Amino acid sequence: MRVQETAYAKLNLTLDVTAKRPDGYHDMLMVMQTVSVTDSLVLEQTGEDRIQVSCNFRYIPTDERNLAVRAAMMYLDAIGEEKRGIAIRMEKDIPVGAGMAGGSADAAAVLRGMNRLYDRRMSRRELEELAANVGSDVAFCVSGGTALARGRGELLEDLEPMPDCRIVICKPGFSISTPELFRKLDQIGLRTHPDTPGMLNALREGDLRGISMRMFNVFEEVDDRRMRSEAEIKHVLLDYGALGAVMTGTGSAVFGIFNAEEAAECCAAELRKEHRFCRVARPAARLEI
Ligand code: ATP
Repeated sequence: MRVQETAYAKLNLTLDVTAKRPDGYHDMLMVMQTVSVTDSLVLEQTGEDRIQVSCNFRYIPTDERNLAVRAAMMYLDAIGEEKRGIAIRMEKDIPVGAGMAGGSADAAAVLRGMNRLYDRRMSRRELEELAANVGSDVAFCVSGGTALARGRGELLEDLEPMPDCRIVICKPGFSISTPELFRKLDQIGLRTHPDTPGMLNALREGDLRGISMRMFNVFEEVDDRRMRSEAEIKHVLLDYGALGAVMTGTGSAVFGIFNAEEAAECCAAELRKEHRFCRVARPAARLEI
């Protein structure tokens, strides 16, 4: 049997770090949104006793370092299946090292696909629990949509869907190391935080302007010379009429919210002159599981 799954990229409408925990992890508070930038995965049962991955991005590992492989292994372990013959073909469009949870989205898509291959044995909650053991953002990516994430990102609450709009997403040529950014964040000590209650209210009211105004990511407070590029992209987005613009996750992608398609397309055309990855996306709805 063979199944196809779509992996949706995530963006952070807000990202707050609320505490450093004794176990070394940070407590996060994030409003997350899936968008129509996607990877396509095909999963197939094979007669062999191994999990094989092939991918159009040559530099992505195809062994257990790939989150998709880890997700498939965890699923098989969880249902007590000993035969491990699975082939996964991934066609990626979600950029790597962008703060768009590409690897996590693939892992979540594999969990959904495995659930179909093995006859939907697990509920959404069970899949999310399994997902949290694969990686911090994987639980959110199981259903996606609009959600509030706490803890390491695994404690989820569904939110009112974000109103439809155009989202211009641009990733500069470099990536930013996540551990390095957390280290720098610990050094500076945060004084400014996103208005998360205000964001939740704006979502409840379907107020796109209110949502855009409240987008904020504490990692943008870190003093890093690469943030200059991020600031330049934000300027272009705002010049072309974005209602708000912010970096997602630990970067390096930056996005802006538009209520007019034409302005979004013009802005993307301008950004593409300098940056290879630039897409005009829309919010994606929560998936039913
Ligand atoms: P996040 O928002 O979760 O921080 P990111 O965009 O910074 O996401 P990813 O693109 O998910 O990061 O991946 C970063 C690292 O994970 C890379 O070093 C990559 O080799 C590894 N990786 C493992 N599995 C995958 C996958 N399926 N797709 C992309 N990268 C993967």
